Amino acid sequence: MRHEAGHLILDPIFASEYYQDDESDCFLAVDIDDCDCKGCIKDRGPIPKYTTLSIGLVAGKQKISQRLTLDEATQLADTLSRYVKVLKDLELVGEGVDLA
Ligand SMILES: [Zn+2]
Repeated sequence: MRHEAGHLILDPIFASEYYQDDESDCFLAVDIDDCDCKGCIKDRGPIPKYTTLSIGLVAGKQKISQRLTLDEATQLADTLSRYVKVLKDLELVGEGVDLA
């Protein structure tokens, strides 16, 4: 069953980027675009600082990063928030179910 609250297809303005790392890891990162290091300045290009954020997903040696506008990030945050509320209302999370 697909609950309407739990699905969002974003078509971001910026293209996603793919990286291959030497070391394997597993995490999700959210970065506010406020860094002034050479790499971030180069990545940001003409995009003004503080106008985007980046989400990165590392799975093994592969990393995908996606730059989002503030409106896109808001859509994603709202969808996650609504869906968590649906799950909590169903009492599937936080009521004795240990997902760790
Ligand atoms: Zn940086």
